[in-house]
Amino acid sequence: MVNDSTDGITNGIGMGKVGGHGRGNGGVLPILSTVAPRTHEPTNNGSVGAQRQVEQPVYVPMPVSERPFSADIIKWMDVLDNTTLLELGGRADALRAAKHPQGDVSYIVDRNINYTNLCITDCRFCAFYRRPKDPEAYVLSYEEIGLKIDAAKAVGGVQILMQGGHNPYLPLDWYTGLLRYIKEHHPIHVHGFSASEIEMMTKVSKLPLDEVLRQLQQAGLDSVPGAGAEVLVDGVRDFIAPKKIDSARWLEIHEAIHEAGMHSTATMMYGVGETWEDRLEHMLKLRDVQERSLKRGAGHFTAFITWSFQPSLTEMQQWDIKLGTAMDYLTMTALSRLVLDNFENVQVSYVTQGPKLAQIALRFGANDFGSLMIEENVVSATGIDFIMPEHEIRRIIEESGFRPVRRYQDYTLCEDAPEGCPCCSGTRSLLVSV
Ligand code: SF4
Repeated sequence: MVNDSTDGITNGIGMGKVGGHGRGNGGVLPILSTVAPRTHEPTNNGSVGAQRQVEQPVYVPMPVSERPFSADIIKWMDVLDNTTLLELGGRADALRAAKHPQGDVSYIVDRNINYTNLCITDCRFCAFYRRPKDPEAYVLSYEEIGLKIDAAKAVGGVQILMQGGHNPYLPLDWYTGLLRYIKEHHPIHVHGFSASEIEMMTKVSKLPLDEVLRQLQQAGLDSVPGAGAEVLVDGVRDFIAPKKIDSARWLEIHEAIHEAGMHSTATMMYGVGETWEDRLEHMLKLRDVQERSLKRGAGHFTAFITWSFQPSLTEMQQWDIKLGTAMDYLTMTALSRLVLDNFENVQVSYVTQGPKLAQIALRFGANDFGSLMIEENVVSATGIDFIMPEHEIRRIIEESGFRPVRRYQDYTLCEDAPEGCPCCSGTRSLLVSV
């Protein structure tokens, strides 16, 4: 997985002494003995990849003529070549205003819970994961997750974003048991498990995708974050994450999630050596899935979120690639609003871009400030840490000329909840220290 920053990751496996989270798997996970007891404190060591010198592979982009949606890619490349950033931003801002004429900018109060950092996928861009025998590998127990949910609800949290590494030691009933435990003891909206984590569940359980989704949904999964997309072009994926699912499978899983009646989000992490044609191909593939999902009328993508790759403490930190700039971020935000015209919401990622750039992006097509993250562990694993209290988020939104509004995962507003928002009585301000 990792990170949908707003849609992000955290730490550990409650393993070592398995005791605490035995529900749903007969109480014993034999593999746990291969993992050292977790440490809950984040460290600054980075991933194992960051600690070794690996020769940078070569990425050769595909000619446009051989890509899907080639005519649209050429059309949008022409727009990029012949439009200034301010003109592009103006067009995106006009489309944002047409879709959201009330002048609101929304955000959600939630908590990222990263139930495990144990992962066998070795993404070269990831600072968060730990290999199975790493002493810092962890799995949180159900009870630890429950306590985190209670703490989030106590300060108005209306959702948990739950993501983890690709942990081959967790059977499917560990996940379904966790969801049932949450719904029974700590009820809250669960926005959880990236497409690539779900793929790992299909491999471990040897069950087809639709059955895994059915079991997760029945156990209490409400919606799915768009993590693990990175760049949905296989040449780029081979360059940065060769062991991860390919772009077709990522898209297939999200379409199946929608078909099952759940919403999901879509993301892109750019600045990993890809081209503008790659970025456009990614967006056009998302647009295509969204078109079918909207026609079907079940679930769909609720939002698109993009952010630039943060190389610190990753295997790619020494690579010679063109990292994203502020100009790139504003262009990407505006471009996504225009290309993804069948998406209602475009989120900024202040966690990776910083509050000032995120504020400007609100005038480049974005209408959502993402999440007041009560806990965040994935982006912060790279040394980037822009987490802010709620009053600061509201001030930033107001000073951009918008009205800040708290929302739920499906973008309904807290203030519109029929019997008043169960967590905050409307827009009651929170003072959350993180
Ligand atoms: S290595 Fe890849 S799959 Fe594993 S946690 Fe990091 S981003 Fe997710």
